[in-house]
Amino acid sequence: MSLAERLARPEILSLPAFDLGGRAADPFGANAIKLDANENPYPPLGPKGVNRYPEPQPARLRAAMAALYGVAPASFLVTRGGDDAIDLLIRAFCRGGQDAVSVCLPTFSAYAHFARLQGARVIEARLGNDFAFEPERLIAAVAGEPDLKLAFICSPNNPTGTPVDPADVLRVADALPDTLIVLDEAYLEFSDTPSLASEANRRPNLVVLKTLSKAFGLAGARVGGLIGPPDIIAMVGRAAPPYPLPTLCIEAAEASLAPARRAIHLERIEELKAERARLAPLLERSPIVRRLHASQGNFLFVEVDDAAGLSRRLDALGIRVRFRENAAPGGVRLTIGTREENDAALRAFGVPVGVERPARRAELVRDTKETRIAVAVDLDRAEPRRIATGVPFFDHMLDQVAAHGNFSLVLACDGDLEIDPHHSLEDCAIALGQALGTALDDKRGIGRFGFALPMDETEAQVLIDLSGRPFCRFEGSFSSSHIGDYPTEMTPHLFRSLADSMRAAIHVRVDGDNDHHKVEACFKAFGRALRQAVAREGSGDALPSTKGVL
Ligand SMILES: *Cc1c(COP(=O)(O)O)cnc(C)c1O
Repeated sequence: MSLAERLARPEILSLPAFDLGGRAADPFGANAIKLDANENPYPPLGPKGVNRYPEPQPARLRAAMAALYGVAPASFLVTRGGDDAIDLLIRAFCRGGQDAVSVCLPTFSAYAHFARLQGARVIEARLGNDFAFEPERLIAAVAGEPDLKLAFICSPNNPTGTPVDPADVLRVADALPDTLIVLDEAYLEFSDTPSLASEANRRPNLVVLKTLSKAFGLAGARVGGLIGPPDIIAMVGRAAPPYPLPTLCIEAAEASLAPARRAIHLERIEELKAERARLAPLLERSPIVRRLHASQGNFLFVEVDDAAGLSRRLDALGIRVRFRENAAPGGVRLTIGTREENDAALRAFGVPVGVERPARRAELVRDTKETRIAVAVDLDRAEPRRIATGVPFFDHMLDQVAAHGNFSLVLACDGDLEIDPHHSLEDCAIALGQALGTALDDKRGIGRFGFALPMDETEAQVLIDLSGRPFCRFEGSFSSSHIGDYPTEMTPHLFRSLADSMRAAIHVRVDGDNDHHKVEACFKAFGRALRQAVAREGSGDALPSTKGVL
């Protein structure tokens, strides 16, 4: 026996390493398509500085997360990911060699892993047909168990994607008044099931587990939390180390939860749900898929014939998924990635998919002392358009640009409007111009255009050349200083910001009597000119320049 083996607790000696799946310990590799860990494929929206210890419970982040889930800060404990919350619960409440936890199999393996680490017993109940949660089964499985401290219920369940009816969770909570029911809502944002967060605040024996890893794309920052009655939250907090969350992770989470980021997060969740809906029927056509389970998570669970063949094809394509033979024979959990990643996975499943043109999308965040902005554009979709700059008239103008430009625009700005709208307007124009420039990337298949537009007595003309050389000419003047909160004198300035950040030549000429009409006509005509300039023509591969580059 080695020294390590002689020193180790018996629980540790008999504990297998935490099972993250076959390939999870391999180095990532730059081009790996990671569809194995239910991460969000988009980069986080937000980080800097570390000479001090962080706050033990970072107050601002705690308040932001509590608000996100609709509970009071005293009812919320920030933890180092949801995994840490599971470990803290077990260490705070389970005596080794005596107390028990229950799990409903097949489910997330961390519950049993941390329980075994603590030396707690694991009572295994089973889900019913189609992995439906049946409260009576769980209640029967734990009957007569005096030391059942924690009952884990996962909704939607990992790896099966099945949601649990909140009424069934409450039924279990009522039936087991001396047990703490732990409802794991790691994937709730992707489901139609209502959260029990506010109920956890009210009941003595219900806690709800949350994480920013999945819906908020922050798996690498390790931030999650627990919602429950304040006495339970304080008790669980005693088991935590003094400074559990690194400052950088706190900052990354705070940045990501900033109000200006909200619209883009919601949009990404919708996009992942839409991809889940697109993928499900396609996977059912796969020659190897025996069964597909309806999932409410950011993943799909299928049972396949020939898992070994699938594994070889996935390897050859550099794609990782999670094989879950222990959940169902031939069980495979496929995380929903980007459209391109999902198409690559479909090919490995033997589902033919065409090669699409590269997406013309861009997302960016732009933070300064004066403004925090998040913007997403998709030139190949007309919806959604959601704009909140804090200046209603300018929202309306940008909406006109996107509507007439026929592209999707989500833009939110948190700016120093209490000083002046100037910074917000200018920074929004810069961010929009950069996003448009990035989405256009190489300018294959687009043209150079102009548009003239009458609006009652007003006439506006906008010419655009996406030339790569910024230039702006604005001819026109305004007689009133403001339209609502919008300063009319900003108009030429905004077109200059757009020209600089898009690296385009923009010529605007406007004539008329009514300033509202004149400003609106400029933005509309800009949208129309942009629509023509970015429309894909023909095969979409010709550059609209004889130089071969733009
Ligand atoms: C991913 C996951 C968690 C927690 O993840 P963290 O990254 O540790 O926050 C919790 N429960 C389930 C079911 C999960 O799949």
